[in-house]
Formats: sequence, structure tokens, C-alpha cells
Amino acid sequence: MNQDQNSTDTLHWVGGKSWEGTSGEFADLRDPATGAVSGRVALASAADVDQAVQTAALAGREWAATSLAKRSAVLFAFRELVSRHTDELARVITAQHGKVLSDAAGEVARGLEVADFACGIPHLLKGGYSSNVSTGVDSHSIRQPLGVVAGISPFNFPVMVPMWMHPVAIACGNAFVLKPSERDPSVSTLVAELWAQAGLPDGVFSVVNGDRRAVEALLAHPDVAAVSFVGSTPVARTVAQEAVGHGKRFQALGGAKNHMVVLPDADVDAAADAAVSAGFGSAGERCMAVSVVVAVGAAADPFVAAVQDRIGRLQVGPGTEPGSDMGPLITAAHRDRVARLVGSGIAEGATPVVDGRDVQVAGHPDGFWLGPTLLDHVTPAMEVYREEVFGPVLQVVRVETYDEALALVNANPYGNGTAIFTNDGWAARRFQEEVEVGMVGINVSVPVPMAYYSFGGWKQSLFGDLHVHGQEGVQFYTRGKAVTSRWLAPSARRGSGVDLGFPTNA
Ligand code: NAD
Repeated sequence: MNQDQNSTDTLHWVGGKSWEGTSGEFADLRDPATGAVSGRVALASAADVDQAVQTAALAGREWAATSLAKRSAVLFAFRELVSRHTDELARVITAQHGKVLSDAAGEVARGLEVADFACGIPHLLKGGYSSNVSTGVDSHSIRQPLGVVAGISPFNFPVMVPMWMHPVAIACGNAFVLKPSERDPSVSTLVAELWAQAGLPDGVFSVVNGDRRAVEALLAHPDVAAVSFVGSTPVARTVAQEAVGHGKRFQALGGAKNHMVVLPDADVDAAADAAVSAGFGSAGERCMAVSVVVAVGAAADPFVAAVQDRIGRLQVGPGTEPGSDMGPLITAAHRDRVARLVGSGIAEGATPVVDGRDVQVAGHPDGFWLGPTLLDHVTPAMEVYREEVFGPVLQVVRVETYDEALALVNANPYGNGTAIFTNDGWAARRFQEEVEVGMVGINVSVPVPMAYYSFGGWKQSLFGDLHVHGQEGVQFYTRGKAVTSRWLAPSARRGSGVDLGFPTNA
């Protein structure tokens, strides 16, 4: 690391090196498996953000003029470096997020897919050309970078979510300023070092650490052309409104409440495996986690029994221990909130088939633990159903028909991901057509699209028009220009006379 080896401070990354900034303010970082303070993160002031954006703007001008071949070469080098440093990145993620190491490595692998995709930028930025649109007139289209673009990311995927953004933004010729979550920011320094090693010019990738103040400064900064946000719905909505107010392009991905529908003809074991994996992976702190299972008719009883059986075999423990299936939650406050919501669900009539609130992890009394929890007979009126829980809590809502299940999913204000488990192709096809959700799984419980498709939800899970990565990402980080040109033969260059009529094609 460039920064002082004795220091546990995570600083900003500006102009190709670590920088403390001028605010003098820091926030504590904690290891969620022990509860202990493990370091500090610098909190940027508006002046610090301004310094980072100005540096980025200067570097971005040259980068925008760099050939596609050279940009692509940097992307390839970055892709190789991230791949080679996967274990190191995973260790830094686990130390601050708490997820198990294999899950952290999986997050890096899914982020890497976006870098793979962005290596093809010369192909992705090809424009169109029409010859002779009018006599002797040709038209072509080009896409150009925006300048400085900012990314604001949540705690739950400290490598993958920023990588939904920066490989594409940078490949398109922009300078990128990342504001990571202040709860697990340190891995972003490592990513910045990898960009530098890949040959990216100083200033094209920057990190400003901080909280709400840094976000507000980025949104208000006149040199930031666009903002990609991923986080909770209330903040996504505010970011979208602020971005509009400041005349910026934006995409703001919000929270989720993902429903998995299990029809009576589904294979019970396959559905239970999928629900447990999707509900408790990363302790439920995934925007694509399954949080509600809608069990239709006779599916309910065998499904609940099969899930209960699997939960009994899950091991809760530190993410660094090989035997752990599930780590702690991100903070004590979040753990307490999830525990309170479980309690409210039970008080409102849900059946606690498995209650994880009393889980103990030997040798780690102060970690932010909450064990896998299964609530049956949940109803849409309950607070635990209405709220995004973002923890290891699987809720089962029982309905009698496919139509009731569909109506429940479509009535939910969120629309990030959903899944249907069935062996009936006709029912699956109906669901794909009728469900009002952005990402749909058919016998797949975490339907995260590959990098060459785009990721994004509907309704309150996304504010803005364009989803992240894939072609929509390229579109978001560039603006189109259409050029109409006429080159006259030497004999015709004397002019053909003034005509005040609107130009029409001939
Ligand atoms: P969060 O909304 O609290 O924070 C996200 C980012 O916004 C962080 O960088 C944070 O510093 C900043 N922030 C927080 N409060 C702010 C405020 N008032 N004004 C301006 N900026 C603010 O989210 P989180 O707790 O870090 O992450 C979990 C949430 O993210 C969940 O709701 C989850 O569903 C969502 N999420 C969504 C997706 C998706 O693709 N839709 C992906 C990952 C996470």
C-alpha cells in the first residue's frame, strides 16, 4: 500500500496517490465479527471533494482523447490484475464487511465480468453511418464521454457494485470519482492501486471517502456530469432529485424486497436449496437476496419443512473461518434493527419456525450476529413484510393460486428481482410476461444478469431510465452526436443559391 504501513487509516485516492484531505475528520471502522475498532476512514469535506473533482477533470480531458486501442489495453491489464489479486481483495472485504471469504471472492469474480465486458470498448462504441441520406449528404453517429462521472456505492458489495460502474465509465473515456460506503471503504484503495499498476493515468480513477456530506458535494459540483448511485430507496430518491436539480444525468438503484414464488409442481428440494442459498448468503445483505417466499397451495408445508431442515445445518461464524456458511451483519445497529423486525413479525402473528436472534458464536461474544431465521404465515400487513429487512430472515407468505402470488409480487413497491420455481413451462412463461420486476429468475433464485446484459430493477428499486453495465451502461456514460456532412465536387463549390425553406431530403 502507498499509505503509511503503520497506519490503519483509510485515506482518499486523488491524483494517483493516497491523500488525507483537509477536513481532519475520521470515522471508526469495525470488524463485524469481533465488534472491535480496526481502523479509521477519512471523511471528505466539500473542499476535499472539489480537489478530487478538479484533479479528475484535468486528467479526464487527456484520457478522453486517448485512443480506443490504448484504453482497451489498460482495461485488459486491470482485468488481469484484479483476477490475480482476488484473494487479497476478498480478505479486505471480509475484514470489514464480514461475509465469508468464498462469497467475497465470488463478488470479485462478478465484478470482473464487467471489466471483461469493458475490454471490448472499441466494438461497443462503434457508431452508425448512412451514406447519401440526401443527394451528396452523409450522416454518422458518434458517442462521446461525459467528463467527470461519480459513483456512490453501498456497503454490501464494496468491490462488485463499484465495478458495475468504473470499468465501463473509464473505458468510455470518462474520469471516475468513487465515493464508497464509509462502513467498508478500504478495499477501494486496493482497487485504485490496481488501476494505477494497469497504467491508468493519475487522476482518471479517484476515491473520496466520506458520508452524506461528500455525496452532497459531488451532487452539487458543477464539474460532475453524471452520478451512478446504488443504495437504499430513501437515499436513492434523494440523490435522483438532487441530481435533477443540479442538471446532472443520473441512475439511482434503490432497495429491494425480492419474492420467490413456489408453485405446487416445483421440485421441493431444488426450491428449498435455492431459497436457503438466496435467503442466507451474505447474511441476507444482498439486494438480490430472496426475502419472501410465496408458497402456492400444497407447496407450503413440504417447502417449509425442507427449509427448516437445511437451516439446521448452516454454520454461523467469522467469515475468515473455513467452516462458516454465514458471517455477521454489518453493524450492531443493523443487527438490532433486524432483530426488532423479527420480533414485530412474531408479535403480529407470524410463526417463528427458526428464530436466529439468540445465536451464539463461540469466542466472538461481541460480533454482530443474527442466525438464519424462518418466519411462516407472514401476511402483507405485517411490518416485517412491508420493510426491507436486509438480514438473514426468510418469510413465507401462503396463497392458494398463481394469480394471488402474481398479484402479491406486483403490488410490492419494490421491483428489483423475483423468481418462480415450477416445472410448468406455461406458468413460467406467463410469469415472465406478467410480473412487474426488472430481473426475473425461472428456477434460478438469484437472477443477476451477466455483465453484457444490464442490471436494474423497476418501481422503487430504480430511479432513472438506464440500468447499469451492458449496453445501457455504455449509453449512460456517453452522449450521442449525429453528424451530417456534405463534401462537394470542386465544380459545384460555387454555391447553389440561398433557400430559406426548412431543409428537406432530395
Ligand atoms: P445507504 O443508502 O445507507 O448508503 C449508500 C451510499 O449512500 C453510501 O455510500 C452512503 O455513504 C451514502 N449515504 C447514506 N445516507 C445518505 C444520505 N442521507 N445522503 C447522501 N448519501 C447518503 O445503503 P447501504 O446501507 O450502504 O446499503 C444497503 C442498501 O443498498 C439496501 O437498501 C440494498 O437493497 C441497497 N442495494 C441495492 C442494490 C441494487 O442494485 N438495487 C445493490 C446493492 C445494495
